[in-house]
Amino acid sequence: MTNDSSFNLMDKIISLCKRRGFIFPGSEIYGGLANSWDFGPLGVELKNNIKKLWWKNIVFQREEIVGLDSSILMNSKVWEASGHLQNFYDPLVECKQCHNRFRLDSLPVSPADPEKKQDRLSCPLCGGELTSEKKFNLMFKTFLGATEESANAVFLRPETAQGIFINFKNILTAMRGKLPLGIAQIGKVFRNEITPGNFIFRTREFEQMELEYFVNPQEADSWFNYWQTERLTWYDSLGLKRDHLREREHNLEELAHYAKKCVDIEYQFPFGWSELEGIANRGDFDLKNHSQFSGQDLSYFDEKSGEKYFPYVIEPSVGVERAFLAILLDAYAEEHDENGDLRVVLKLNSKLAPIKVAVFPLVRNNEKIVKKSREVFNLIKSSFTCDYDVTGSIGRRYRRQDEIGTPFCLTIDYQTLEDDSLTIRERDSMNQVRVKIPEIIGWLSQMFNS
Ligand SMILES: [Zn+2]
Repeated sequence: MTNDSSFNLMDKIISLCKRRGFIFPGSEIYGGLANSWDFGPLGVELKNNIKKLWWKNIVFQREEIVGLDSSILMNSKVWEASGHLQNFYDPLVECKQCHNRFRLDSLPVSPADPEKKQDRLSCPLCGGELTSEKKFNLMFKTFLGATEESANAVFLRPETAQGIFINFKNILTAMRGKLPLGIAQIGKVFRNEITPGNFIFRTREFEQMELEYFVNPQEADSWFNYWQTERLTWYDSLGLKRDHLREREHNLEELAHYAKKCVDIEYQFPFGWSELEGIANRGDFDLKNHSQFSGQDLSYFDEKSGEKYFPYVIEPSVGVERAFLAILLDAYAEEHDENGDLRVVLKLNSKLAPIKVAVFPLVRNNEKIVKKSREVFNLIKSSFTCDYDVTGSIGRRYRRQDEIGTPFCLTIDYQTLEDDSLTIRERDSMNQVRVKIPEIIGWLSQMFNS
């Protein structure tokens, strides 16, 4: 799908995001900061909706899963035990001429001899000679307190998972948990990527939604399959088109240092099939290592079998920004309206839409209509995220709401003053119905829950 029209789609999404307040380039008034992005008024709503729906599906709707919000800064021993200090490296090369830096494994390989690394060693930008490979740790390092001594070094977490592992015993005890036990966390993580890019797809600061699901090692394979199915079903429930999703299992060389098995759920982005979510079997790697490094016993006593063991961990892990991007790409459509004019519409699942309802007075110069519109807005604003718009023709106001994915527009007109009814116009079908104002909250609630 990497043709002109799909690259075009990415440009359209980026432009829409900026124009309508979903996403702005970071630090823009100072000339920007490479690959950093700020989520604007509509972006923060969409992002919150994604996180809320994940949390509801993972934590609220399941008895055996609980939540956690652990800190970003942790004792550096955590990263020793997790293997990140040792293994969380990218192979880095630098051009001796233009000084651009690249991940060695991202450079094109000579098709004649894919094994021969030397063939990659010329700069893809200027053709200059590249340095030999250096190992580059992806963790951001900083210092606790006033002195920059290595004893005070701490790292910004590159994954939320470790905060879960080091709290495993606390949670097991506090919640009187039994296996299977899930611990879920949403939070910011930081990776000093050499080559970020593709808008919000790969950034150095992003949010993860991670579940660590602790199970009896003998049941790990069946739980892995269970979560694979569950996670795909979740994307279905958000309305992502199934033929834009596929599963891809990692081969041995690709596997992260902690993983026994990993399957990516990939999305067909305009720049190619790429990871949306990773589902990993981390085995007992983390609990075992943290037991060893901390001297605390993190094993589990199984009352049923009378055995003591380190649970295996199944981990479905999603990048919030990647889900955000996939959702926007999937929802974007250009159509012709009833007058043959082009309309851009975000066909977002109504649970995801940043604004649920827009309220319009038909005209702005009729006091009674404006007053009634305000009453309607005040009536529904604590039940639904609402927008109130008086500017321009009704047609233009519809277009503006279509473009940000607002499912319903309510128009208060002359008839409202006579029979207390208003027009509800649905985004995708553009169908209109009249509903009495006292019934409006019930009507909308029913639509959003169906
Ligand atoms: Zn160069």
